[in-house]
Amino acid sequence: MEEFDVVVIGGGPAGGQTSRTLAKKGLKVALVEKYKSFALNNFSSAGMTLEPLEEFDIPESCVGAYWSDLEIQCTKKAYLWKGDSVKGVVLNFQKLKEFLANETKKFGGKVFMGHRYESKNNVEDGVIVTLSTSSKESIKIKTKLLVDATGPLRKVMYDADEQQPEMVLGSGTEYEIEVSQEIYDNYKDKLLFFPRS
Ligand SMILES: Cc1cc2nc3c(=O)[nH]c(=O)nc-3n(C[C@H](O)[C@H](O)[C@H](O)COP(=O)(O)OP(=O)(O)OC[C@H]3O[C@@H](n4cnc5c(N)ncnc54)[C@H](O)[C@@H]3O)c2cc1C
Repeated sequence: MEEFDVVVIGGGPAGGQTSRTLAKKGLKVALVEKYKSFALNNFSSAGMTLEPLEEFDIPESCVGAYWSDLEIQCTKKAYLWKGDSVKGVVLNFQKLKEFLANETKKFGGKVFMGHRYESKNNVEDGVIVTLSTSSKESIKIKTKLLVDATGPLRKVMYDADEQQPEMVLGSGTEYEIEVSQEIYDNYKDKLLFFPRS
């Protein structure tokens, strides 16, 4: 059975950054993601300010777009703050996740794409983790530390039949629409919000 210092379940931004950081520190890390490719759970929206790029050492290759203005469109009113310089970015989530997984590999970690976390079994000197593939193959790996980075699913922290504490959940809908060059030029520098009243 393959053994690791840390196994991180979930290749989202939290899991990818965790495995990247720990691999860089020299720990034997595995990153496990249920999708075979990050293109399969890509959504483009990851608007944020500029500071996290530097704080988390994220390269420009992960940036989808830059924004300088902030606009809030309400039913009856619109508010616009015009920035005189770039204030933030919208990350390309697929590129970000690929980058973090590649960095994990670059620093000696292993990435299990297309592997779903199924269960854990605590043993005296660690945890045995069972993963499955889409072809229903099952593999077991062993780790000293198991990290739940499955986002709001919290698949590792709570067993399927276990009651989870209530959490405030938000949901979002994302549309990718094709627009004319004129409309694109009008909105390309803006981070635009349509709050629901
Ligand atoms: C439509 C939408 C728009 C958003 N827009 C913004 C925005 O503009 N700015 C912003 O800051 N935030 C935004 N967010 C929120 C942001 O996406 C989340 O805060 C962020 O993705 C959380 O990262 P995470 O790594 O904790 O979890 P996630 O991104 O949820 O990653 C969890 C990963 O775990 C994997 N996984 C789950 N179960 C298993 C399993 N059993 N085995 C293996 N892998 C598993 C999933 O496939 C996924 O890759 C948006 C969210 C949505 C849905």
